[in-house]
Amino acid sequence: MTMLTPQQLTGRTREHVVELPQLSCSLHPQAAEALLALRRAAATAGHDLAVVSAFRDFNQQLVIWNAKFRGERALLDRDGTRLDVRTLSAEQIVRTILHWSALPGASRHHWGSEADVFDRAALPSGARPQLLPSEYAHDGVFGALSSWLSTHAADYGFYLPYDSDRGGVQVEPWHLSFAPLASALLPQLTAELIAEALAEAPLQGREVVLSLLPEIHARYVRAVAAPSASVLNAARLASEPIPAARPS
Ligand SMILES: [Zn+2]
Repeated sequence: MTMLTPQQLTGRTREHVVELPQLSCSLHPQAAEALLALRRAAATAGHDLAVVSAFRDFNQQLVIWNAKFRGERALLDRDGTRLDVRTLSAEQIVRTILHWSALPGASRHHWGSEADVFDRAALPSGARPQLLPSEYAHDGVFGALSSWLSTHAADYGFYLPYDSDRGGVQVEPWHLSFAPLASALLPQLTAELIAEALAEAPLQGREVVLSLLPEIHARYVRAVAAPSASVLNAARLASEPIPAARPS
């Protein structure tokens, strides 16, 4: 079973990830290999599987968090309406940010096992993916990719941890998780590890965050879909050693 250090689990180092120039992102080597295989399979079905964001480090998440807390970056309520931080308590701000963004140290993107994906071939030229559920709905621009992934992603070890609203992170049909790695890492990321990571960081709203940490950990880290036995199994088969020099 893969173990990561506390520094790696909370994204305070990037020594557990490798760069993938083909996808302009970084991932843990196990997930990187599987995602490239998934991408090749998607290509045969006419999809150009691309990545919006894969590994993100603690500091990137911290910059997003602090900018939202100070109102320098749009703070939106659940309906997408912009809120004025000056009218809100620190706890209200923290709860609002958490609906859209992970707490630094608590993002699955720190692990290198996660990727937000879209279909570049389906995107009109000049357009950018917005990461909205409507884009991934049946009649959305990425609907065909979404439906292809629902059939094939599991063969490569990927599944959707945010497939339904469990009262924490909203539904994210674009967020793929490499199950064999992520399922080993999830129990390793305890609330204590997150608190430790935040202890030295200049985090806005730190006191409120620390007081809510057990709840944040339960709702935003632990409340995710569990990978099926078949996705864990398929990935095990896919990771069997393959001959090094195969003609491409
Ligand atoms: Zn994501």
